[in-house]
Amino acid sequence: MSIRKVVAQAPGRVNLIGEHIDYSDGFVLPFAIANVTTATITEREDSIITVASVQRKSLSYKTALEKLAPLTGEDWARYPLGVVWAMKDLGITRGMDILIDGKVPLGAGLSSSAALECSIATGLNALFNLGRTKEDLARLTQRAENLYVGVPCGIMDQSVSLMAHEGSALLLDCRDLSTRNIPFDIAPHGLELLIIDTQAHHALVDGGYAERRASCEKAVAELGITSLRDISVADYEQAGKSLDATIYIRGLHAVTEMKRVLDTVAALEAADFTRVGQLLNESHRSLRDDYTVSCPELNLAVDAALSTGALGARMVGGGFGGSAIALARVEDIEMMKSAISQAFAAKSYRAPRFFTSLPSEGAHVVSQM
Ligand code: ADP
Ligand code: MG
Repeated sequence: MSIRKVVAQAPGRVNLIGEHIDYSDGFVLPFAIANVTTATITEREDSIITVASVQRKSLSYKTALEKLAPLTGEDWARYPLGVVWAMKDLGITRGMDILIDGKVPLGAGLSSSAALECSIATGLNALFNLGRTKEDLARLTQRAENLYVGVPCGIMDQSVSLMAHEGSALLLDCRDLSTRNIPFDIAPHGLELLIIDTQAHHALVDGGYAERRASCEKAVAELGITSLRDISVADYEQAGKSLDATIYIRGLHAVTEMKRVLDTVAALEAADFTRVGQLLNESHRSLRDDYTVSCPELNLAVDAALSTGALGARMVGGGFGGSAIALARVEDIEMMKSAISQAFAAKSYRAPRFFTSLPSEGAHVVSQM
């Protein structure tokens, strides 16, 4: 037989707006960043699978197609092997050598894990002619991460890594998983997204995530509604008077954030980036004061970005550390970075890391032979 080979790439992502509402049937509006993970997959004549990563020099991992089993193998190798496992019965008939080169920073909240999974899934789909759609690949890679790696992630990261388009954000409805591309073409407007990795990671001493989620569920139960998606901000403010104060304010974040996502979509469709900036600021205020999932480093990054001309800025991701984003004019970015670095140094915080990105293309095959 002739040995076939494929090279496929998939990007990391940032969520522009729609934070902590995926579990309330909300909307999220992520976009793909320019940093990608590249997977080179070479078919073998036997059923052996080897995986190696440029980012994991000392380790490569060897197994066989029939031996794949969830929660086995080196930590990092579970990600690529999980995808092979999830797609195995769709027509993968031989072993393979997988080489990974990831340019998405690991563990910075930019979803290097989805970039890795989606590069493999896109490569396998082409190499073995599996004919799967991007929606199929999103479900398969999520399944790999949930069951094989053992991380209970949602489907946002994989969806955007697979389906994103250059100059667009992806509106994902977490209720029915339908998606819509929204124009987010900031380059012609002289704008860029600055991503600030605060390098802070605060332990959730108070069981932060579970408490927030339980509060939202309690608000839903006490208001007798199906989800926080199904109530307007005005009705919530009215009905919520009967709720415990903490539960009320948590739910208030969710209902207002859902509205902000849809308002952001309208602002983007009108290319009104000033309004987008305001909505990012309102999202941050809500996450900081109502949902209380921010932290001093994130707040400092946001404040320093705003004081050096950002149109808007907010924390992204789960909170208590991780990254913030700022929508900024290209010419302001260098000054913004040094202002943020100086503010961090003055407080003796760990030095932040910076990435800039334009909304980029989703996963694709680079070459096949
Ligand atoms: P994030 O997705 O936000 O970057 P995660 O903890 O979900 O953070 O995923 C990071 C993990 O994914 C790494 O610890 C590693 O196990 C795996 N990973 C991602 N990219 C690579 C890579 N290029 N090489 C090896 N492992 C990788
Ligand atoms: Mg991840």
